[in-house]
Amino acid sequence: MPNAKKVAGSNAVDLTGMRFGYAEVISYIGKVGESNLWRCHCDCGKDFIAKTGDLRSGRVTSCGCSKARKPYTKQIANFAWRFKKRTDLLRISKKFITVNKNSKSGKRGVFYVAKSQLWCAKLVCQGREHRIMCASLESAIRARKRLEKKYFKPLR
Ligand SMILES: [Zn+2]
Repeated sequence: MPNAKKVAGSNAVDLTGMRFGYAEVISYIGKVGESNLWRCHCDCGKDFIAKTGDLRSGRVTSCGCSKARKPYTKQIANFAWRFKKRTDLLRISKKFITVNKNSKSGKRGVFYVAKSQLWCAKLVCQGREHRIMCASLESAIRARKRLEKKYFKPLR
């Protein structure tokens, strides 16, 4: 957003008046840590507070009353055809999964956690993150496969 309006006296991009799903941004609250917080008004009548990142990413589209309802954000609406139950079908297609991303393991969704000296199999599905910690790379790859089977397969 190069021409985005900023909140006066802050470097936060002004979201006031913008709509994210069922929520309308009412006013800027302030910065907590790295996050800018906003007072929002939900279509159901409740006010609530949300972070910029959560609004923009589509993680938050209401006060929480509409978790079961389909999320609606501008970005998601534009790509609605490829979403099912909040999951980007393009990302879980076989082709995409086998692409090696820049993780240390060379396997998508498997990476090494130096702090705990364990391998982690991670999968994000429908906005929820699932992690399995493993002692070896091989078992983490197997764990990731199990996660794909459990969470992605029913969606395909
Ligand atoms: Zn609500």
